[in-house]
Amino acid sequence: MVDMQPNMLSLAGEVALVTGASRGIGAATAEALARAGASVALNYRSSREAAETLAGRLAAGGARLMAVGGDAGDAGQVDVMIEKIESVLGQVSILVNNAGITRDSLLVRMSGEDFDDVIAASLRGAFLCSKAVARGMMKARRGVIINVSSVVGRRGNAGQANYAAAKAGLIGLTRSLARELGPRGVRVNAVAPGYVETDMTANLADGMKEQIIKNTPLGRLAAPAEIAGVIAFLASPAAAYITGGVIPVDGGLGI
Ligand code: NAP
Repeated sequence: MVDMQPNMLSLAGEVALVTGASRGIGAATAEALARAGASVALNYRSSREAAETLAGRLAAGGARLMAVGGDAGDAGQVDVMIEKIESVLGQVSILVNNAGITRDSLLVRMSGEDFDDVIAASLRGAFLCSKAVARGMMKARRGVIINVSSVVGRRGNAGQANYAAAKAGLIGLTRSLARELGPRGVRVNAVAPGYVETDMTANLADGMKEQIIKNTPLGRLAAPAEIAGVIAFLASPAAAYITGGVIPVDGGLGI
């Protein structure tokens, strides 16, 4: 029997790492986790100033925050990053694999490099970061991993073979790790957002945005905070019996 806690959404005492937290969904997620009481490490690859400014702003609200650079797709950089976080904030108990990029083009024009770069930032990044924190979580017999997939990983999208493959791969990774780590007390879930107002979608081709809105039952794109809220819920004790889930947060686009 699991006791009802006074605040099932509280993350007090947790240490979270959010990859790609300098802007967009990652920044909103770092904010949501910090507001719920977690200490948060904000990872960035190149946007150091943005990550440090956000960490400073959130710390002013009383949370423990740090900005930490590193390419999520590079094993050496991930190991250094985790060491830094654990020496400052303590052992990571919540990992949000959010880092990701797009390099869109039709298959016949897609370079091998564009394919590999997208897989590296998103899928390989999630693998490496999960691997780096899993041992500690298993030893502690608690922890949460949340992967940021996409409606595109479930449905595919012309012009995004690399991105769709990375995001579909994250679903397989999520379900495999949920099976592997569940018996050790670690939950692993994914969110599959629809289209969200961030830098990533700022330059959608003409007419594309209107088409997406038309196909979305809720009739609009999401705000980053609407994805972050679901991630914070999945990280919390309120979601204690959810693992291996792929939660659509897409305004109905994927129905
Ligand atoms: P965004 O605004 O373009 O931000 C991407 C973030 O990822 C930045 O903080 C960037 O850091 C970081 N990043 C990229 N490659 C990295 C790497 N190799 N290592 C570490 N950090 C890296 O993107 P977003 O729209 O917020 O998307 C966040 C996640 O949600 C992505 O995985 C994306 O695929 C997914 N998603 C987005 C949408 C959408 O409509 N926007 C929909 C579904 C899923 P720097 O600033 O330092 O480069």
